[in-house]
Amino acid sequence: MNAPRLLIIGGVAGGATAAARARRLDERADITLLERGPFVSYANCGLPYFISQDITKRSKLLLQTAEGFDARYRVKVQLETEALELDRAGRRVRARGPEGETWLPYDVLILAQGGQPVMPPLPGIDAPHVFKLWTVPDMDRMHTFITEHAPKTAVVVGGGFIGLEMAEALARRGLSTSVVELAPSPMVNMDLEFGNLVARELRANGVQLFTGVGVKAVTKESVELSDGRTLPADLVLFSVGVRPELTLAKAAGLEVGASGGLLVDETLRTSDPHIFAAGDMVEVTQRVSGRKVRVPLAGPANRQGRIAATNALGGSMKYRGALGSSIVKVFHAAAGMTGLSERAARELGFDVGVATVHKEHHASYFPGGEQLSLKLVYDRKTTRLLGAQAFGKQGVDKRIDVLAMALHARATLEDLSELDLAYAPPFNTANDPINMAAFVGSNDVSGFSPTITAGALKAKLTQPSPPLVLDVRGRGEWAKGHLANALLLPVDELRDRLDEVPRDRELVVLDSNGFRGHLALRVLRENGVKSALNLTGGWLSLTAEGVDVEVG
Ligand code: FAD
Repeated sequence: MNAPRLLIIGGVAGGATAAARARRLDERADITLLERGPFVSYANCGLPYFISQDITKRSKLLLQTAEGFDARYRVKVQLETEALELDRAGRRVRARGPEGETWLPYDVLILAQGGQPVMPPLPGIDAPHVFKLWTVPDMDRMHTFITEHAPKTAVVVGGGFIGLEMAEALARRGLSTSVVELAPSPMVNMDLEFGNLVARELRANGVQLFTGVGVKAVTKESVELSDGRTLPADLVLFSVGVRPELTLAKAAGLEVGASGGLLVDETLRTSDPHIFAAGDMVEVTQRVSGRKVRVPLAGPANRQGRIAATNALGGSMKYRGALGSSIVKVFHAAAGMTGLSERAARELGFDVGVATVHKEHHASYFPGGEQLSLKLVYDRKTTRLLGAQAFGKQGVDKRIDVLAMALHARATLEDLSELDLAYAPPFNTANDPINMAAFVGSNDVSGFSPTITAGALKAKLTQPSPPLVLDVRGRGEWAKGHLANALLLPVDELRDRLDEVPRDRELVVLDSNGFRGHLALRVLRENGVKSALNLTGGWLSLTAEGVDVEVG
C-alpha cells in the first residue's frame, strides 16, 4: 500500500497537534502542513502575557519552527502559504506561497483553520491605533506601538477572557485602561453575580468598566459609546468574539452546522469522508446539554487535532464533546467555569437548582486564607451536576478542574457530597467548598433546607408583595449594609424571638454567605415555620447580583 498523503491546513493548536500525532502513528505517511502566517505552532494563549511583559522573551511563544518540525516529525511545513481553493472531486488544494501558486494533492485532508476575530464595521476601526490580538504579528504591532508611541489611555472593547487579560496587560504597562462591554457584566458566559465579582476586581485595580453599552465609533483620540459618552483612547483593542474560518470549506460545499461551525461527526469527519476538521472552526456537542455549540478554546482544539489525525489515518477515536471549561486571571483573582451557567441551564429547560458558597480556600485558622466563591448548578429532578463557576484569589483552578471531572462522570450532588478530596490546613478545609456546596444543594432538593437564589430574590423584591427578609446576621454586619424592610433577627437571638416571625408571609432568611442562614432556617422549620427559604450565597451573592443597600 502507498504511504497516505495527509494534508493539513492550519498550523497552530489543532493543526500542529494533528501533524505530530499523525507522524507518531505512521512513519510512512507523507505529511504536509500549510500555514498562512509566518509561524507554526505558536502559543497564542500567551500573547497577552507578552504585552503585559510577564513573558519578556518573545521567542518563548514560538514553540516550534518549520525546520524543527521537519527535523522531529518529518512534516513539510509551508509557512506563509495560504490554501485558496479546495477541489474535493480531485482531492487537491490550491495554495499560494512564497514561490507562487500550486495544487497540492491529498488522500486525506485535515482542516484546522481556527477562526478570525470579529472587527465590527465601525467608523475609525482601520485607524493605526486600533488593534486586534490574534497572532504573533498582531502582538508585535501592538507591542511596537506601545513602545514607540507611549500611549497613555486604552479602551478594550469586549469583556471576554482575552479582553480582560489585555485590560490587565495594558494597565500593567501603565495605560489608564477602560473596558467596554455590551452585556450587563464582563465574562458574559458566567452568571451575573460572578461577572460582577470580576467587575469588582477590575475596578479595584484601577480599570474603568462600562457595561450595558456599545461602541459607536473610534476617533483619533477617543472611543464614542452608543449612549453618547466619550472615552479617551490613545490605543483601542477590539476583542468582541471569534468567527470560524469557513471561507474555504463553504466554497467547497462542506456542510455547516446550526451553531455556525463546520459540521463534523463524532470522529471529526466532515460531510466529505476524505476531510476531517478540528479546533475553533468546528461545532461540537456540549457534553451536558447534548446541543451543538462552538467552543473556541485551546484544550478542545488540541484534543480534536489528536483525534482527527488518528481517524484520518484509519483509526476510530471518538470526540465526546466539550464542557467549555475555562479560566481567566484577573489581576489578583481568577474566574473559572465549566459546563452550563445557571442562565444557560434555565434556557435549556432544566429544572435548575443552585448552591453557592463563599468560603475560605483553606482552613480559616491557617494564615493566608482567601475567600473562594463557588456556585454549583444542578438539575433538581436528577440532582445531576450541570455546571459550576468559581471566583477568588486562590483555589479556583482546583475546584473547576475537579468539577469538570465530575461533569465528565455525570456526577450527582450525592457524589459530590462524598468526594474525598485531599486535606491539610494549608491546602483546604476538611469539607472542601465543593462538598459544602453539594450539601447545600442536597439539603435544598430534599426539602431539609430549601433555598432561593440571589437572582430570584432580587426579582421578588421588586414585586408588589415581596417576601419578608429575616436578616440573621449580627448588628455590626447589618449596620454596614442591609435591605430596606428586612427584619434584623441575629441567629443567636432567633430561638428567643420566634414570636416576631410572621407565619402568614413568604420568608427569606439572609446571612453573610448562607451558612448561618441554614441554621436559622432549621430553627424556624423545627418551630413550625415551614414557608421560609434560605438565600444561597447570602449577602455576598445578593450584593454581587446588584441590589439597593441601606447603610446604618
Ligand atoms: P488557531 O490556533 O487559530 O490556528 C488556525 C491557523 O490556521 C491559523 O494560524 C491560521 O493562520 C491558519 N489558517 C487559516 N486559514 C488558512 C488557510 N486558508 N491557509 C493556511 N492557513 C490557514 N484558549 C484557551 O483555552 N485558554 C486561553 O487562555 C486562551 N487564550 C487565548 C488568548 C489569545 C490572545 C488568543 C488569540 C486565543 C486564546 N485562546 C485560549 C483560544 C485558543 O488559542 C484557540 O482556541 C486555539 O488556538 C484554536 O486552535 P485552532 O487550531 O482551531 O486555530
